[in-house]
Amino acid sequence: MGDETGGASLPSTGSDAKKRRVTYFYEPTIGNYYYGLNHPMKPHRIRMAHNLITSYGLLRYMEITRPFPAAPEDIGKFHSDEYVEFLSSVSPESLANPEHGTRSERFNVCEDCPVFDGLFEFCQASAGGSIGAAAKLNRGDADIALNWAGGLHHAKKDGASGFCYVNDIVLGILELLKVHRRVLYVDIDVHHGDGVEEAFYSTDRVMTVSFHKYGDFFPGTGHIEDIGVGQGKNYALNVPLNDGMDDENFHGLFRPIIQKVMEVYQPEAVVLQSGADSLSGDRLGCFNLSIKGHSDCLRFLRSFNVPLMVLGGGGYTLKNVASCWCYETAVAVGMEPDNRLPYHEYYEYFGPDYTLHVDPSNMKNLNSPKYMETIRNTLLEQVSRLIHAPSVPFQTTPSTTEVPEEAEEDMDQRPKHPICNGEDYDEDEMAGPRILNIDAQPITEMRDAVTDAMEED
Ligand SMILES: [Zn+2]
Repeated sequence: MGDETGGASLPSTGSDAKKRRVTYFYEPTIGNYYYGLNHPMKPHRIRMAHNLITSYGLLRYMEITRPFPAAPEDIGKFHSDEYVEFLSSVSPESLANPEHGTRSERFNVCEDCPVFDGLFEFCQASAGGSIGAAAKLNRGDADIALNWAGGLHHAKKDGASGFCYVNDIVLGILELLKVHRRVLYVDIDVHHGDGVEEAFYSTDRVMTVSFHKYGDFFPGTGHIEDIGVGQGKNYALNVPLNDGMDDENFHGLFRPIIQKVMEVYQPEAVVLQSGADSLSGDRLGCFNLSIKGHSDCLRFLRSFNVPLMVLGGGGYTLKNVASCWCYETAVAVGMEPDNRLPYHEYYEYFGPDYTLHVDPSNMKNLNSPKYMETIRNTLLEQVSRLIHAPSVPFQTTPSTTEVPEEAEEDMDQRPKHPICNGEDYDEDEMAGPRILNIDAQPITEMRDAVTDAMEED
């Protein structure tokens, strides 16, 4: 049973102790959505993380916000109208209709990305959190905004991929771009952040940096030579890694690369996709990071004191995901939670040791010192080719989206499916000169086009 003395959180010491204003987005129904039996993606892990965060007493250090569900028009800022219309109308029952059945294949809403009860509401909550987080940072009302239900980095403009249907990250970044000239996106999920990279592949206003397993692994993209095209050339950074990546080697890449990117690119806002499938012992992953090692990425980004959005992502060994995102919530607010878990609703998941931290395993690290040095040098060289802090004309600042917010105590009083009519978006402002035209093309096609062009020269 629970140790009465476990579960305390003490203030961090050193540079982490500097306080940040943190807003935490949480949709209390998120844990009820269910992809299906044997599907590894379990929204329940977000509820488990929330329970742990609550039990450690971390809520008192943050503003708690229930996300307003993203309206179809909000989601349509990136996704195609036909895809949004399909997502908002499909149900497990309607799939029997041949017309819906055909479209589900076209949009890849099948197999890995199944139709389940409440699918669109789930997407609205995830995307609403990331758009809300961006709006919060845009207003300067928070230094760090957390949305563990976000980070669904594989979703494409015109279809689902890798358990992701709506790309909340792209939507959140588009919102940030209304106020911030340059946004840095950092992705530490074990899988390549393909959907986000693709969306911003040809712009210098968003720099994407993805650390991922590469080679015979989903989604198959993220080659070190994929660096962006046109205006975006050199503004996509890919760090392809092998199995068994450990804390020490990960930070031997992460810190110098991110340090250099921060110096040269000077982002005005940063988005971290903190996918937990890069942890040791993940059901689908193959890295060997401890929770401390994983969270060191957040700790390092936080130290720059630039507006920071922190999102979830993958993560398939539920107790590790919950522990990781709880610990990272503590890092965000500058607390150090006790390793002994407090007794809480899901305590039995954490046996037999009932501790917060996950020790790395003895798996072999297949990233040799020589390989590490080669990719570090290649990537640092790529960053040094960047134009320092590219600027954009900033004639007028478009008004930011007013996302209605409600405090935690109101959660129970809310209707289950509140109406969001999107009237807070002013279409003229949205179409203003500073808003990116998102017209993502598959990167392989773009790379082929670039290669063809080079051969023609
Ligand atoms: Zn993943």
